[in-house]
Amino acid sequence: MTATTAITVRVPAKVNLQLAVGPAREDGYHDLVNVFHAVALFDEVTVREPRPRAELPLVGLSVSGDLGPHLARVPLDATNLAARAARLVARETASATPVELHLHKRIPVAGGMAGGSADAAGALVACNTFWSAGLSDGDLLALAAELGSDVAFPLVGGTAVGTGRGEVLTPADSPGRYHWVFALAEGGLSTPDVFGEYDRLRPGAPEPAGDPELMAALAAGDAARLGAALSNDLERAALSLRPDLAGVLAAGRAAGALGAIVSGSGPTCAFLAASAAEAAEIAAALDASGRCAATVTTQGHADGARVVDPAED
Ligand code: ATP
Repeated sequence: MTATTAITVRVPAKVNLQLAVGPAREDGYHDLVNVFHAVALFDEVTVREPRPRAELPLVGLSVSGDLGPHLARVPLDATNLAARAARLVARETASATPVELHLHKRIPVAGGMAGGSADAAGALVACNTFWSAGLSDGDLLALAAELGSDVAFPLVGGTAVGTGRGEVLTPADSPGRYHWVFALAEGGLSTPDVFGEYDRLRPGAPEPAGDPELMAALAAGDAARLGAALSNDLERAALSLRPDLAGVLAAGRAAGALGAIVSGSGPTCAFLAASAAEAAEIAAALDASGRCAATVTTQGHADGARVVDPAED
């Protein structure tokens, strides 16, 4: 009999093309209008049978990647969002057996690109497949919403508008392909800290509203129009906590970016470029400026979580 011994799922980072933030709700969350855009910067989540050991936890966890000191900030205990996702799938199926979960990370940690949420989405798909749990796409979306506001989107990928806490997704009409440069920062920013700073700077914020110009730019596949329409209500708060990011945004704009924003809660900054060649030039200028730790050039949008390596023996 053949048995599945490992399942690997590739799952994308996101950038928010628009992030409109309403006032703090009574439950502490904020209502959002969040235009998510998946980019081809992927973490890989692998689920496999554990090596035999005397005491097996239901979910063992390890992590790898070239993120330097960032990697040490990924928790390897039960709080890891991917481990929590695995346990949620186990709750839904009688066939769950102990597993080792391995995260190969390329998405910056605490970088405003939803890396932890991506890993959680990857773990949902990988465990559902590994355990033959039979959960539908709708079931996985419901589990994703239990885990966090940003977990549903990396399941579906593409470009989508999130409302509510960001977890209610509507696919956007977006036929275009875009070239992006991401400037990665030393250190991270805590998402709750950035929302706290937002509330402090902007008490009584209005209800969040979508931007028709941004949606029209997406529908037209017009990169220049899209660049001009990018917006992020959290940017001011992120800049307040990390004033150095203003120089990063300015350097990218000076190098010809069509648009420049802090990605989500930061501190990663995102630059839209007119072409792959322009993206390479912007990245080179940012690297030369010494204002960021590293740059990544990539494209959007990208697919959501997909099984890539169902190794069998
Ligand atoms: P978002 O854009 O959704 O606000 P982010 O990209 O800023 O998130 P993450 O990389 O998701 O930030 O990490 C935020 C925190 O979550 C980390 O500092 C870490 O303590 C915790 N965390 C839990 N699970 C993971 C994971 N699998 N990968 C990275 N961080 C994780």
